[in-house]
Amino acid sequence: MQKKTYKIKAWGCAMNLSDSERIKAVMRAADFKENNIQPDVVILVACSIRQSAIDRLWWQIQINSQKPIDNRQGILKRPLIVLTGCVLETDKKKFEKLVDILIDIKKIEKLPVIINKKSEGVKIIKQLSNSATDYNYFHVSPVRDSKFSALVPIMTGCNNYCSYCAVPYTRGREYSRPAQKIIKEVENLVKNGYKEIILLGQNVNSYNGRLDSKSKIPDTKQIQNFKFKFQNDVITFSDLLRSLNALNGDFWIRFFTSHPKDLSDELIKTMKECDKVCKYINLPVQAGDNATLKKMNRKYSIQHYKKLIGKLRKSMPNIAISTDIIVGFPEETNKQFENSAKLFRDVKYDMAYIAQFSMRPGTAATKLKDNVRKEEKKHREKILTEILKKTAWQNNKKYIGKLAKILVEKKIKNGKYFGKTESYKHVMFNGKKNLIGKFIMVKISGMVSFGLKGKIINT
Ligand code: SF4
Repeated sequence: MQKKTYKIKAWGCAMNLSDSERIKAVMRAADFKENNIQPDVVILVACSIRQSAIDRLWWQIQINSQKPIDNRQGILKRPLIVLTGCVLETDKKKFEKLVDILIDIKKIEKLPVIINKKSEGVKIIKQLSNSATDYNYFHVSPVRDSKFSALVPIMTGCNNYCSYCAVPYTRGREYSRPAQKIIKEVENLVKNGYKEIILLGQNVNSYNGRLDSKSKIPDTKQIQNFKFKFQNDVITFSDLLRSLNALNGDFWIRFFTSHPKDLSDELIKTMKECDKVCKYINLPVQAGDNATLKKMNRKYSIQHYKKLIGKLRKSMPNIAISTDIIVGFPEETNKQFENSAKLFRDVKYDMAYIAQFSMRPGTAATKLKDNVRKEEKKHREKILTEILKKTAWQNNKKYIGKLAKILVEKKIKNGKYFGKTESYKHVMFNGKKNLIGKFIMVKISGMVSFGLKGKIINT
């Protein structure tokens, strides 16, 4: 009998990509085969961060609803459409009429059984989560897309309720995975040659790991030698970083993403002292104006944020800093936007992810007036991008003539490779042999827009 086939289409953040790797594992274990051309099942992993992502999801549903596939018996039918990932309640109601299966990501292990039932003609099947703490899907070992860079969720959900954000409604309250499970997973990854461990969470700074009485502490000398007690102790993000840093092997640790209100002095000290922790941080500011930050429910001031930047740079002079920022938040005046532009000039970011505000149903921001015109939002985005181009260029200049260790990520064409420094700088260089997934040394010889050019020193 021919195997049933599936395709996954995911939008949004690294957490969604990581979830997709777990979905792949579930499907593979149930004997489904990946087929991106003519699948029997299309699994859509949604992102609700912006309306544009939801619009793209809607289009995918339309395209797949009208796409007839040959079911190998000469009968044309469309693929089964599964919707999972981050979906707001209001969107769930809209989409449940359009898709065949709507399943909470936490229940993904049940998907193959549900697909088979649905293929037998069972009508609409909804599998929404009953419990906010039902996070069993983390037990699934992912089928990783990369052989050298691993996404490792350490927590999910969020308690912060920033007024523009859908995450607390789609992913629920914060849940931290038990520390030993994370350490064991990373230990295995490193043993299997992984060079980059990317710890994921909506707010990794509030990681709050406890012991899982069922799992054993990994039996490695390094961890047993650790000063802090695992038994009955709450393990902070700092503790977790230190315990991962103590594992043997040549690898980097990165993390995404941090909330400025939870970035402690202890964490800055840990970043400085742990040689495997990359000297790079994404610290989303979201707005450069205190009144706007208040409306966003961010719970810090620009003065506090700038103090953090100062501490990070004092402690790690070569650290690279990126941010996320929203332009055109409801009622944001020109003057308030000017404060964001000023912040960009003052902080001199290496990179920034600039988003035009888009209202998400059910969030607190819906009580405000989305009164900044689309054209004005575009204009504000352009202004910040221009400042960023200049500051990133100035920051990148400092690398010229210096040696940098990079992790090679992919081959482009004509013998050109692409890799990243620990400070998350993109580097292009020429290479002859296969270098993908290896650490190499390059001498930085030039710059391209937002990136660097280099020459190999050794391989
Ligand atoms: S911290 Fe704010 S922006 Fe980040 S996931 Fe939580 S609610 Fe959303």
